[in-house]
Amino acid sequence: MMNNANCVLRVSSKPLFAAIGTATIALLSSLFLISCGDQDEYDPAHDYFSYANTDAFLTQHVSLDLDVDFESRSLRGSVVLRMQVKDDSVDTLILDTRDITIESVAFIDEAGAAASASYELGEHDDSKGSPLIITVPESVDRSSDVRVRIEYETSPDASALQWLPAELTAGGKHPMMFSQSQSVHARSWVPLQDTPAVRVTYDAVIRTPRELLAVMSANNDPLTPRQGVYRFDMPQPIPSYLLAIAVGNLYFAPLGEDTGVYTEPELLDASVYEFANTQEMLDVAVQQFGPYQWGRYDLLVLPPSFPFGGMENPRLSFLTPSLLAGDRSLVSVVAHELAHSWSGNLVTNATWRDSWLNEGVTSYLESRLMEIIYDKDRVDEERVLSYEELLGNFEDVPLERQWLAPRLDSGDADDVQGTIHYHKGQLFLQHLENGFGRQRFDEFLFQYFEDFAFKTITTEVFLDYLEDELLDPNPGVISRAQVEVWMYQPGLPDDAPIPSSTTLTHAAELAAAWSVGEASLDDLPVGQWSPQAMIHFINSLPADLCAAKLAQLDLELGLSDSGNAEIARTWFIQVANRRFEPAYPKLEAHLNRYGRARLVSPIYGALAENGQDAELAKLMFASARGKYHPFTINHIARKLQNAAASK
Ligand SMILES: [Zn+2]
Repeated sequence: MMNNANCVLRVSSKPLFAAIGTATIALLSSLFLISCGDQDEYDPAHDYFSYANTDAFLTQHVSLDLDVDFESRSLRGSVVLRMQVKDDSVDTLILDTRDITIESVAFIDEAGAAASASYELGEHDDSKGSPLIITVPESVDRSSDVRVRIEYETSPDASALQWLPAELTAGGKHPMMFSQSQSVHARSWVPLQDTPAVRVTYDAVIRTPRELLAVMSANNDPLTPRQGVYRFDMPQPIPSYLLAIAVGNLYFAPLGEDTGVYTEPELLDASVYEFANTQEMLDVAVQQFGPYQWGRYDLLVLPPSFPFGGMENPRLSFLTPSLLAGDRSLVSVVAHELAHSWSGNLVTNATWRDSWLNEGVTSYLESRLMEIIYDKDRVDEERVLSYEELLGNFEDVPLERQWLAPRLDSGDADDVQGTIHYHKGQLFLQHLENGFGRQRFDEFLFQYFEDFAFKTITTEVFLDYLEDELLDPNPGVISRAQVEVWMYQPGLPDDAPIPSSTTLTHAAELAAAWSVGEASLDDLPVGQWSPQAMIHFINSLPADLCAAKLAQLDLELGLSDSGNAEIARTWFIQVANRRFEPAYPKLEAHLNRYGRARLVSPIYGALAENGQDAELAKLMFASARGKYHPFTINHIARKLQNAAASK
């Protein structure tokens, strides 16, 4: 199956090394030896995280019919996949599953008659799950589309689904369930071709306890009555990782003409306040990037255990309640999820190796939206923090995973590059904007979204398009070879932009001055500082700061009690790094308050790596893990394992 002889090195039509000096070539050669050992076997366009034989069968439409059972923590029912037959000589259909119990498989003809099919589940793989291998009965006509129906039940441990008991919700009276399908977890709640290379439309019938509401990444109607049976239709084709569902005591409030928010009633007022700019963001995004192709744009604010800041499920972004800071300071996450309506949902990475096309482009669009809606100072601050996070990532992520488009054929699809594909990708687009000018680059992007709407593309397709539409028509600015340095080399090129912010520079200067007694805390303009400036101040404290100074800082600035989740995260990482034990009780409270991986995982990592608290980190994890989503649990477990292995 992996018969394409291309390697990362050879996919480009232009020589990679054209613009690179000889010293760099020596370094690169050794690198490629490491990372392209099987270069004749590696196909960058192949999705190594899916078993599906998409060259023979290609799903067009998915029909779900599912009961949501909170008692058994399972979804039970059926899926019908309508598939185009690409190769009618193939009589084996392979789908992706993970921990799903299959009850029956049958092919359905036009008249609705079913022909049952034999099947087996292949060996389980931790990263890919198990292939469902179906033998297509001889009676099935493969000269046109086929429809296969699978009856199944999900496991209580399905990696995409979190089942929250009532006490872990804001209201405390009703249970809740929600999904997180990205990257390779849709297969844990629907047997299907789980690769971003395949786009499907879908419909669904979802049955729930009568008092609860179901919402999906589909046509949610804010006026839907609560009656326990909900029908959905998603007419725009989406990749499987954007299949999404949530069921709970959810209510709706409008934010604007085409925008609104779903959440538990206890969080509704705070959500309406925090995300009041959503309609304006949508309007600005349409002006900037082209038509919004998805109908409504709503938000769903979940309980604290939601593992991400946000998830760009189409028509309905899922959000962590940790964004409810009360001052709208963290809404760049909404700008980010909204921007995915163009980069990611509309133009989609073909494999997880190309995920910079989703995340890097989106991070750049996010910064452009924030600049229009807020101001350049705020965006400069966020750019500097992202840049510092990127430099930190370069210290942790292996060199061959620092390429924007790394070779990727094994391992864990969820945790490949830290956040390199976000921040290095954003910087790459910033570099193009700087080189070609904002107006020309905006025209390029606008056209890009139009030309690739509802398509999935590889990095190399993007590069060819970039070359044809921007590089070649404007010669002498940036060459393809220079662009490929971003794609296929670690770290950053020498001419990469370096973001700067006057307010953050000042905050760092004050951190240095205060730590040596040249400034008092009263001198800090805390009242005028953004949360970003406070974060930078904390990160700029010198490594040898004594415990008494840390205690003074915590007492006077209230850092351990900060209601801003990002400030608290930054502070508790420092607390753990520096073993500032007086703050440990509040650090543990933070670990129990949030379930977003970004907010807790690095704190466990810092404890495990400070030389003395590895056991404490394990104990704190054991006591908090019941509140976390499976994604967050895996993330922290890996972090603790890595820390133990590096000892
Ligand atoms: Zn994103």
